[in-house]
Order: sequence, then C-alpha cells, then structure tokens
Amino acid sequence: MSKPRKVHVKSFGCQMNVYDSHRMADTLVPAGFSETARLEDADLVILNTCHIREKAADKVYSEIGRLRELKDAAARDGRKMLIAVAGCVAQAEGKEIIRRAGAVDLVIGSQNYHRLPEMVARAQGGEKVVDTEFPIEDKFDALAPPRRDAIARRGISAFVTVQEGCDKFCTFCVVPYTRGAEVSRPVEKIAAEVARLADAGVREVTLIGQNVNAYHGLDRNGTQSGLGNLLRRLAEVPGILRLRYTTSHPRDMDDDLIAAHRELPALMPYVHLPVQSGSDRILAAMNRRHTRGDYLDVIDRLKAGRADLAFTSDFIVGFPGETETDFRDTLALIDDVGFAGAYSFMYSARPGTPAAEMDAQIPQEEKSERLQRLQASITRHQRAFNAGFLGHTLDVLLEKSGKLAGQLVGRSPHLLAVQVMAPVQFIGSIKRVTISEIGTNSLFGTLADELHIRTLATAGA
Ligand code: SAM
Ligand code: SF4
Repeated sequence: MSKPRKVHVKSFGCQMNVYDSHRMADTLVPAGFSETARLEDADLVILNTCHIREKAADKVYSEIGRLRELKDAAARDGRKMLIAVAGCVAQAEGKEIIRRAGAVDLVIGSQNYHRLPEMVARAQGGEKVVDTEFPIEDKFDALAPPRRDAIARRGISAFVTVQEGCDKFCTFCVVPYTRGAEVSRPVEKIAAEVARLADAGVREVTLIGQNVNAYHGLDRNGTQSGLGNLLRRLAEVPGILRLRYTTSHPRDMDDDLIAAHRELPALMPYVHLPVQSGSDRILAAMNRRHTRGDYLDVIDRLKAGRADLAFTSDFIVGFPGETETDFRDTLALIDDVGFAGAYSFMYSARPGTPAAEMDAQIPQEEKSERLQRLQASITRHQRAFNAGFLGHTLDVLLEKSGKLAGQLVGRSPHLLAVQVMAPVQFIGSIKRVTISEIGTNSLFGTLADELHIRTLATAGA
C-alpha cells in the first residue's frame, strides 16, 4: 500500500468543474490520496481550469506562479509537490502550458480524469505528462464513485453531470472546441449515482451539462430519453426532495420538459435560461439559432405550465457590431422578462472562434459602460423579485449552520439563501419559513410552525 498523500483541487469557472473536481479527488482515493483544504500540505495540487473568457486563462497562469513558490518551499523541505493543470485551459493549450510554466508536471484534458492515478505515478517518476486526447472509453464509468464520508462532507445539495459538450457552435464560444461534441450519460447510471448520493444524505440534486436540456441518454429499454423523462425517473429516488438543472438552451426547451415542470413537485420553479442578447441582429451573428420572440415564447410556455417559475439568464455585452440600439433591445428584454438574477459578461474574443475574426470589435470602455447599465437593470429586477417574498411563507431546504449560534441557512425554491433560527437536526429537511426581512444576499425568517405555536400560546394566555 502506498504512503498517504494529500491532494488539493482548486476549481475555476462553472459548476461542471466543481463536479469534475470532486470526481478527480474521488478517483485518487484508491491511489492513496486524501483531500486537503490547505495548499501548503498538498503533495499534488490540481488546478481545474476554465477557458471561457480571456481573464479566466490569465488567472490560471498567475495561480501557477504562486504555486511555484510553494513547490520550491516544499522541495527545500525535501518534499515533492506536483502541479497538475486540468479542465478547459488544459484541453485548449495542452503542452504549451508546460512550455510556458515549467513548474507544471501534468496537463490533463477534461475527458481524461479517470487516467489521473496512472499519470500522477508517471509524473512522480519525473516525467512531464500531457494527456488531452478525447478517449473512446466513457470517463464516467471509469471514475471512482465518491465514498459516503466524502459525500456527507460536501453537503446535502449535490451536482451531477448528465451531459457534456456542445454541438451548437455559438460564434463567441470555445466550449464546442474544449469539451467536444454533445454526449449524454444513460438514465439508469445517473439514477444509480443519485441513489448513492441520497443514501449518504443528499436531498437536492442539480443536474448539470453545458447544454443540459439537450440531454438524450438511453433509458433501460435502450430508447432515447429527454431531460423531462430523466427528471421523472430521478424524482422516484427515495430521499431526493428537490431537483434542479442547469444550463439550458432556449432551443432545447421541449414540450416534455415543460410538462415535467407542471407534473413534478420536486422540480424547482427556477430556470437558468441564457439569452445573451435581446437583439435579433446580434442573436443571428452569435449563431444562437433563436430569436428574441422565440425566447419570449419559451418563457410564456413554461409559465403557462407553472406560474411561479422564475428565470435567470446570461448576457454578453459588446459583441462585435453591437450598436446602442441593439443594446437597448437587450435592456428592453430584461424589462419584459423581469429576471430574478443574471450573469453578465463583456464580450471576450477567444482565439479560434468566428466572432474573434469579426469586424467592428467594440472598444473596452464602451463594453464596460454597457455592462454597468445592464447590471444596474438586473439588480433592480433582482431586488424587486426578492422583496416580493416579504411576509410570505416559503419551503426552505435547510443546508448547514449559519454564522450565528443556533442559526441555519437554507434555500428557497427559487434558490434564495434563507437564514432562520432552527435546531441543527433540521439540516436536510424542508421547513416552512415566514420571511420577515430582505437582506442584500439573504432573506431572514422564522420557522412558520414555531410562529404558529407561539401565536396559539399567546391566544390561550
Ligand atoms: N451553454 C450555455 C448557453 O448556451 O447559454 C452557456 C455556457 S458558457 C460556459 C456560460 C456563459 O459564458 C455563456 O452563457 C456566455 O454568456 C458566457 N460566455 C461564453 N463565451 C464568452 C465570451 N467569448 N465572452 C464573454 N462571455 C462569454
Ligand atoms: Fe457555448 Fe453556445 Fe454551446 Fe452554450 S450553446 S456552450 S454558449 S456554443
């Protein structure tokens, strides 16, 4: 048996990377690694990178610079610290990373994580290892499942990747190049993973994929199943109280998924549906393959199925050729939909994507000015959305202890953080909470049943 070693995995970017980071750590357990939160103690540091915007890649290189100092300090203590770069920067830049940053020992693409133990062993022997091929075998089958204690440590809400890759080729986006073509995992394999999570205490599962509603995995009869059917299957898993999914594409929001929102109480009324722009001209240049009207139509169909549905979105400002009129169309769309929140980004030219070659790139100051205006509008809508819950009683899934003694933090159906005084044994269950205050980042409330008991006691006195 090999001597115990420690691994620290640092995630950048999206939730898919968070999931992959957990799975990498799980896969290294049989090779004698345990996870550490302290970088200084690590024998292996994995940077799980994101390549979606330019700054994301720059961050990785400055992080490697900092790690180099730790690696040198470890060497002075007679210890070998390995540095690995994983994820989309690894996939896109491959061995260029080792050329540019000699402190890096191994570079591993996003489809190859199951090969980590073998690669680490080679790097340990002094080899610089690069593996960014898209392999034929299914990485999910080859990845070690998490142990019960690891699941419990990660909390009652878990991510599960059900789909990877993208065939849409939006003109600004690197994902189809870094994550490859769309692939869906089979229904029963996902159900088995969810059952395992539930058995170890997980109560909420968020299904994730670059294009999660393009999901088309095979069911137990060998028939292709859409996301609606997968959600129906997972709603049957004992212990699972809540289901969510992200990120969706407006074109893949089919009738069956809309029906699932109507039918499944466990499916939360909250959908992240990126639109990117409210201008048809820009949407066409982005190759989004939907118009502003199509998007609004999808929202209407979803709301017809479930009236309390709320939406969040992604926006890009300053796409090449975006005029003030185009930008105002985006602001108008925000007012039409009234989003509960959004991520917004300045367009960042990514080498190799068609938009990077387009004329009429927008100056930085203009992008920055539009981003501020867009974010001000989103914040206004988000505040109005949150304020609407004042005095309402919500179902809150209690997740963990809060900052104050006796306080728990949970999530409302619309994913808002809710702070409430409640006993610790309530973690993992859904309680009714009456909202008494709206903070900047959380809602505050009182257990509704407790309020009810107190009211009865007062009436009886
Ligand atoms: N598949 C999802 C979709 O179609 O909306 C989004 C995936 S991407 C990881 C997340 C977000 O990053 C996108 O929705 C987009 O707003 C943003 N993004 C992607 N490429 C970008 C770029 N080149 N510049 C700025 N933002 C970008
Ligand atoms: Fe990127 Fe477009 Fe695919 Fe989303 S749908 S991952 S934005 S190419």
